[in-house]
Amino acid sequence: MSDKASTADAFDVLVLGAGPGALAVSAALSQEGLNVGVLSANSHLDPWPYTYGIWTDEVEELGLDHLLGHRWQNTVSFFGKGSSVLTSNENKPTHHKKDYGLFDKHKLQAHWINQCEQGEVKWNRGFANNIEISKFFAIVTTEDEIKYKARLVIDATGYDPIFVKSPDRGPIAVQTCYGVVAKFSSSPIQEGQFVLMDYRCDHLTSEEKSEPPTFLYAMDMGNGRFFLEETSLGLAPPISIEKLRERLHKRINNKGIKIQTLEHEELGVYLPMNLSIPYLDQPVLGFGGSAAMVHPASGYMVGGLLRRAPKLAKVIAQNISNPKNSTTDIAKAGWQELWPIELQKKQALYQFGLEKLMRFEEDQLRDFFDGFFGLPKNQWYGFLTNTLTLSELVRAMMSMFNNASWNVRLGLMGMQGRELKLLWEFLKPKMK
Ligand SMILES: Cc1cc2nc3c(=O)[nH]c(=O)nc-3n(C[C@H](O)[C@H](O)[C@H](O)COP(=O)(O)OP(=O)(O)OC[C@H]3O[C@@H](n4cnc5c(N)ncnc54)[C@H](O)[C@@H]3O)c2cc1C
Repeated sequence: MSDKASTADAFDVLVLGAGPGALAVSAALSQEGLNVGVLSANSHLDPWPYTYGIWTDEVEELGLDHLLGHRWQNTVSFFGKGSSVLTSNENKPTHHKKDYGLFDKHKLQAHWINQCEQGEVKWNRGFANNIEISKFFAIVTTEDEIKYKARLVIDATGYDPIFVKSPDRGPIAVQTCYGVVAKFSSSPIQEGQFVLMDYRCDHLTSEEKSEPPTFLYAMDMGNGRFFLEETSLGLAPPISIEKLRERLHKRINNKGIKIQTLEHEELGVYLPMNLSIPYLDQPVLGFGGSAAMVHPASGYMVGGLLRRAPKLAKVIAQNISNPKNSTTDIAKAGWQELWPIELQKKQALYQFGLEKLMRFEEDQLRDFFDGFFGLPKNQWYGFLTNTLTLSELVRAMMSMFNNASWNVRLGLMGMQGRELKLLWEFLKPKMK
C-alpha cells in the first residue's frame, strides 16, 4: 500500500461514527491537541435516537451535572410478589435514596462537539467499508470510494462494528424494551417519581408469570407527561417487542388508567448485554459499543464514556508522539488501557452474574433484586456503575450471596451453560 492511495487529509486519529462513543473519544483526543478526523454515516449534528439515564453522582463527580435535563430524588423500585391481590407490604417501594437523572441529550452532544471544535477536529460524512493497514498508518475507504488516512483508526460504529473483531462466544443476551411517552387519564406512577424497576406482576396470568419476567422502568417527565417502558433484563433469544408492548398495555390497564395523548412510541429497542471483549492485539481500536464497554448488568455506558475517554486519549497521544510506534503498537496500547486485566476479570464476573439471572424464575429474580438493593449503597451503586475495584466487586457479590434467601442461593450455586467458562475467564483473562 502506498502513501498515494490517500486522496484526503491525513489525521493523527480517524474516528468512525457519530454516536456518544465517537463524540466522547474525539472530544478527548482533540483536547490532547491531536489532529482528529471524524467519519460518520450520519451527521454529527443529527439528534441521537435514545435518551440516556444516569445516577447523578456519576455526573456530579465529573462536574457535568449541568448536562442533565431531568433529575429525580424520589427514586424507587418494587419487588412485590406476584399474587393476584397485592398486600400493602408487596406494594411497598424500595427507596434507593440516590438521585437519578436523564441527560438533556442535546446538551450532552453539544458538550462533546464544543470540545471537538475547540481543538482540531474535521467532520466528514461517509460509510466506511474498507480498511488497509500498513506499518505506520491505515487507510479507510468509504462506500463512495473516498479515502482517509490516519496513524490510528478508532472504530466507534456501535454494537455491530464495521472493523473491530471479537471472538464468537455463542448467543448474545439482548435487552429489549418497548416504551411510550404519553399523558394519561391519571398518573401511572407517583408524581415526581422515578421507578428503576417495577417487578410487580399481579396483572399477569399464571401462565404469563411462568414466562421470562419483565419489569417497568418509568419516570415522571413533568407537565403531565410520563415515560413508561416495559423491559426485559437480557435474554438469548430476546423477548419480542410485541410481547413487551402487550405487557405494558396490560400493566397500564391494570392500573385502571388510559393513555390520553401518545407523544412518542419507542419501538424495537435491542441492547446487547454480554458482548465479548474484542481481540486486544488488533490494529484498529474500538470505543463505546464496539469495544464492549456497555455495562453487562445495567446496559449503561455514558458514565463510562465520560470517565474513560480522557484517560484513553492521554495514552493515545503519548503513543502517537513516538514516531517509532506502529499503528498496531498504538492500537494495542489503547486496548490495554480499555481492557486491563482487572477490568477483564470484572467483566467475566458481571457476565457470570448475568448468565445466572437469565435463568432465574420470576420469584427468584424479585428476591434477588430485593437483596441486591439491600446491600450498602456504595456496593450496589459501585456495582451498577462499574466503579468498584475487583476485590470490592467480589466482596459485594459475596455479601449478596450471604444475605440472599435459599431460593436465590440455590439459583446462584448451580453451574450451567457458559458459567464455568466465564469463571475460567475470571481466573485466566486474555492479556497479561
Ligand atoms: C435503547 C437504548 C437505551 C440506552 N439507554 C442508556 C442509558 O439510559 N444510559 C446509558 O448510559 N446507556 C444507555 N444505552 C447504552 C449506550 O449508551 C448506547 O447504546 C449508545 O448509543 C452507544 O454509543 P456508541 O457511540 O457506541 O454507538 P451508537 O450510538 O450506535 O453510534 C454508532 C455510530 O456509528 C455510525 N456508523 C455505523 N456504521 C458506520 C460506518 N460503517 N461508517 C461510519 N459510521 C458508521 C452510526 O451512524 C452512529 O453514528 C442505551 C442503549 C440503547 C440501545
